[in-house]
Amino acid sequence: MNRSILLIYTGGTIGMKQDTETLALKPFNFNQITEEVPELKKFGYKIDTISFDPVIDSSDVVPSFWVRLVELINENYKKYDGFVVLHGTDTMSYTASVLSFMLEDLEKPVVLTGSQLPIGMLRTDGKENLISSIEIAAAADSNGRPMVPEVCVYFKTMLFRGNRTTKYNAENFRAFRSANYPILADVGIHIKYNPSVISYPKEWGKELKINTALDTNVAILKIFPGIQPYVLDAVLGVKGLRAVILETFGSGNAPTSDWFIERIKKAVNDGLIVMNVTQCHAGKVNMDAYATGIALKKEGVVGGFDITTESALAKLFYLLGKHSDIDDVKRELVSNLRGEISI
Ligand code: ASP
Repeated sequence: MNRSILLIYTGGTIGMKQDTETLALKPFNFNQITEEVPELKKFGYKIDTISFDPVIDSSDVVPSFWVRLVELINENYKKYDGFVVLHGTDTMSYTASVLSFMLEDLEKPVVLTGSQLPIGMLRTDGKENLISSIEIAAAADSNGRPMVPEVCVYFKTMLFRGNRTTKYNAENFRAFRSANYPILADVGIHIKYNPSVISYPKEWGKELKINTALDTNVAILKIFPGIQPYVLDAVLGVKGLRAVILETFGSGNAPTSDWFIERIKKAVNDGLIVMNVTQCHAGKVNMDAYATGIALKKEGVVGGFDITTESALAKLFYLLGKHSDIDDVKRELVSNLRGEISI
């Protein structure tokens, strides 16, 4: 099959090599990737590479980085069948989540991958991750349509919906999890796609639309037993803040003390969006289950369903960038826009 893939290297462990003298990890010139991974030639695909300059550790990702990435995909959208983005693992789930909102009416695969060990190391997980990601990004059905026209993360034999992932393990090769959504494909001897959980366009042939206006006036407030009023005051009182993600206990529960509820109530009345996202890795927010959740709902807190914190942040950046009216933001927050929540 004559397929074409654009491989975008942004940084991260995958593209590093150990300096033979200092043993420190240094990025290598990714245009020479076929030298590092000669197996890529066996595909017979046209694989072009673009490297960010400078490449970054993904802890340094900022919104302008996402805009550059999205613009790059947009400029090259018609030329390629699929895109593979090599990215550090630390913030890969944030990038995958935000890309899913920035790329509207996407009809081609955008697969993010990386590795825990550099590609130049003997036991690297980078080669398999890269090779499988390219194969997935190029895969098409009998009509020539992409198998997975979504923003995904591929890691250690599993293809995930990007905005459902979380980096779960800092060491082992199974670095990512998607606790609330099944994997899109399972990679073994064969690549087994799971079409019933992959999202396809309702009608094909739409133009890609990119949304580059992001409003980052958002904070994340993780609650904990023993939390003090001054913590809430410090966060909720930030000037210019438009939304707070309240990371709550279990199915969306928080302290019921008057001082806590009063502060939340005031924040909501003052026009702040307070979004309830659970601290648990799996399961969803249900503010009707316990008195501790009902109190939040009564004060106008928006339920996040089974969204990840990464995706909640990305969705807020996107919606706040799109709407100036807070009611429009709230309405879309509780809608399933890119498969990020199960409702
Ligand atoms: N610190 C690196 C990064 O996220 C880790 C990795 O690539 O796995 O850029």
